[in-house]
Amino acid sequence: MIEKLEQIKQAAISEIANANSSKDLEELEIKYFGKKSELSGILKSISTLSDEEKRTVGPAVNSLKNELMSSIESRKKEVVSRELDAKLKEEYIDPTIDLSKEEVGHLHPVTQLRYKLEDIFKSAGFFVYDGPEIETDFFNFEALNIAKNHPARDMQDTFYIKDDVVLRTQTSSCQVRALKEFGAPIKVVVPGRVYRNEASDATHDFIFNQIEGLVVDENVSIANFLATLDTLIKKIFGENVNVRLRPGYFPFVEPGFELDISCLVCGGKKCPACKHTGWLELGGAGMIHPNVLKAADIDPEIYSGFAFGFGVDRMMMQKYKIDDIRWSTSGDLRFVKQF
Ligand SMILES: [Zn+2]
Repeated sequence: MIEKLEQIKQAAISEIANANSSKDLEELEIKYFGKKSELSGILKSISTLSDEEKRTVGPAVNSLKNELMSSIESRKKEVVSRELDAKLKEEYIDPTIDLSKEEVGHLHPVTQLRYKLEDIFKSAGFFVYDGPEIETDFFNFEALNIAKNHPARDMQDTFYIKDDVVLRTQTSSCQVRALKEFGAPIKVVVPGRVYRNEASDATHDFIFNQIEGLVVDENVSIANFLATLDTLIKKIFGENVNVRLRPGYFPFVEPGFELDISCLVCGGKKCPACKHTGWLELGGAGMIHPNVLKAADIDPEIYSGFAFGFGVDRMMMQKYKIDDIRWSTSGDLRFVKQF
């Protein structure tokens, strides 16, 4: 019987030494210590042995069990540590990588300004309206008192999709849209992209952003108009900005104005951003022409109002002292990352 134990020991020691995974070792534990193992069988049969054998075999089995258990344990330590090394190599994590350098995007300065403008207008009781950039000739021109063959069409070089479909040249295209949809009284702003088929320079681009404002109610006067614009401009640019109104011609307002602000880039000393005049044209404005109200089925005998349209990119240029509008659409990260 002792010889039998010696055979089991030799086989087990060799198998333990050759075990290469913790799973192999678990199987060996079952093989040598499980209920159906040879050693269990020997222990169960001890009662059938002679008294002398009982005295030697019992302790010998227990001592062999202890020996095998400890060699499985020590082999397990080697194998587990090797498995861990392999796993760490496979799922490599470099704790020295600085995650704070991970780039996080942000809104374009024009969008930031647009949101700020929307907030200012909303706080003054306006709501924000969105309209299509691909627009019908009716809303972009005719409803705004610009009939076909009207010379004013030459002022806006237009991208035509079809004869009567254009890329909107102005957010004013939403004046009659909003009036038709919501009627009067109304206080609405329409921010968005517009398109002009023209050569670009420091103050012109073929795609840019406007924000259109429209106020229609009973008894809206030119005094309301001036007060609203003055408040807005100072909220955007600060109390120190100078505002200048010049008579201007837009077919959809009467009277119409060009609205200039003193150039914040050069402080009025003249620079490329203000075409060396010290002033920057921010947009057009005026009292709404009765024909526009009629196009929206609103009675101009009862209602009046004012409208204005500002170039958001030009506002951004003034706010951040940028000397060329084309940076806005350049996609140049050196520019965008500064905001
Ligand atoms: Zn200037």
